[in-house]
Amino acid sequence: MDLYEYQARELLAEQGIAIPRGFYATTPEEAVAAAVRIGFPCVVKGQATIGHRGQAGAVVVAHDADEVRELSRRILPMTIHGHHVNGVLIAEAKNIIHEYYVSISVDRSSRDFDVLATANGGTEVEEVARQHPESVKRLHIEALDDFDESAARDMARSIGFYHADVDQAADILLRMWRCFIENDATLVEINPLAKIGDPDDESSKMLCALDAKISLDGNAAFRHDGWSRFEDTSRHDPFEERAKKLGLHYVRLRGQVGVIGNGAGLVMSSLDAVSGAGDAQGSGVAPANFLDIGGGASAKVMQDSLSIILSDPQVASVFINIYGGITSCRLVAEGILSAIDALGSHLPIIVRFDGNEAAEGLDILGSAGRPSIHVCPTMEEAAALAARMAVSGGDNK
Ligand code: GDP
Ligand code: MN
Repeated sequence: MDLYEYQARELLAEQGIAIPRGFYATTPEEAVAAAVRIGFPCVVKGQATIGHRGQAGAVVVAHDADEVRELSRRILPMTIHGHHVNGVLIAEAKNIIHEYYVSISVDRSSRDFDVLATANGGTEVEEVARQHPESVKRLHIEALDDFDESAARDMARSIGFYHADVDQAADILLRMWRCFIENDATLVEINPLAKIGDPDDESSKMLCALDAKISLDGNAAFRHDGWSRFEDTSRHDPFEERAKKLGLHYVRLRGQVGVIGNGAGLVMSSLDAVSGAGDAQGSGVAPANFLDIGGGASAKVMQDSLSIILSDPQVASVFINIYGGITSCRLVAEGILSAIDALGSHLPIIVRFDGNEAAEGLDILGSAGRPSIHVCPTMEEAAALAARMAVSGGDNK
C-alpha cells in the first residue's frame, strides 16, 4: 500500500524526523484556512501516490491567500500520470540550501534491504543517478541484520553530507530504519532531505524531510490494525469493500467480463486472455475485475465471489477459470450452481476446469441443465467465448 505524502510524514514525525509544519486540505477553503494558520510563504502540494508532482506543476510555493486558493482550485482536480490528486498538503515553505536523497527499501533480487543515498537529490535525482551512478551510495543490510549507528555514520560520511551534517544525517538514517522496520514498510524514501535555513547563519541550518514516500507491506496489515488510519475514503469502491469484508482478493477494473480464478498467476493470465480476445474480436471487451479465490476454495467462497461479480452492473458475462489442485472442481461447480440459484442470474457464465475432480465438476454443471452455463476445454477458448457473450448477451454466435 502506497501512502500519500501527508500520511508518510506522520510516520516520519513519529520517529522524531524533522518535517515542516503542514496541514492536509480537501477544498480550496480548507487550504486557505491552513495557509493562514501556517503563514506565508507556504507550499501547496497535490497529494497523489506518485512522484514527479513538482514537474507536473502540483507542488508550488504560494505567497498569499489568493494564490493558495487559485493553486488549490487548479491542483485538486488534477490527475498525475493516472493518479488522482485526493487533497493538498499546505506546508511551511523552507529556504532550501541543498537537496539530498535517501531511501531504504526491500531489494527483492538480493532478498535483503537496500539503503540508497546521494547528495544530488531533488526532482532530477533519476537523471543525475543515470549520468553519475558513482554519486549514488548503496548499502546492503542482510535480512536478519540490524542497521546500527556506525553503519549509519559510514553511510552518511560516504554520501558527502557536508561535514557538519554527518551526525544529523546518520541520526535521520537510523530513524528512517526504525520507521521502515516498525511499520513493516517496503519503502521509506525522503527526497528531498533538504538542508534548510539561512545561508548566512550557520546555526539556523538543519536537515528536514521536505517530501516523504512510504509503501507498506500489505501482507503485514494484520499486525497494524489493517492500517485503518490510512484508509483512503476518496477511493472507496463499494464492490471492493464488500469483497474485503468477505475476505476475497478482488480488484475492480473497468471492463465487461467478470473473472474468477484460483491463484494470482492464473487470474492474471485469464485477464490477459480476456483482453486479448476483446482486441482480436475488435470489440474492445476487457476484464471487469481480478478475483483470486485462492487454494482450497469452498462452495461458499465461490458463492460469495459470484454474488459480488453478478451484482456489478458493468458485468455482461463471467469467466471462471479453475485449476484444481487443493481446490476441488466439484466443490466449485456446486458453488456456482447454488450461487446462480440464490442470485437468480441469467448472465452467461463460461467455465474452464482442469485438475482435481475436473470431470466430476463438469458433470455436475452439465447435468444441471442451466442454459446460462457454458464449458470450454481451454483458457483461450473460454476467454474468447466470454468476450463474445459479453457483447451478444449469451447468444453463442
Ligand atoms: P515530488 O516532485 O512529487 O517529488 O514532490 P516534492 O515534494 O519532492 O517537491 C518537488 C520540489 O519542490 C522539491 O524537490 C523542491 O525543490 C521543491 N519544494 C518542495 N518543498 C519546498 C519548500 O518548502 N521550499 C522550496 N523552496 N521548495 C520546495
Ligand atoms: Mn520528492
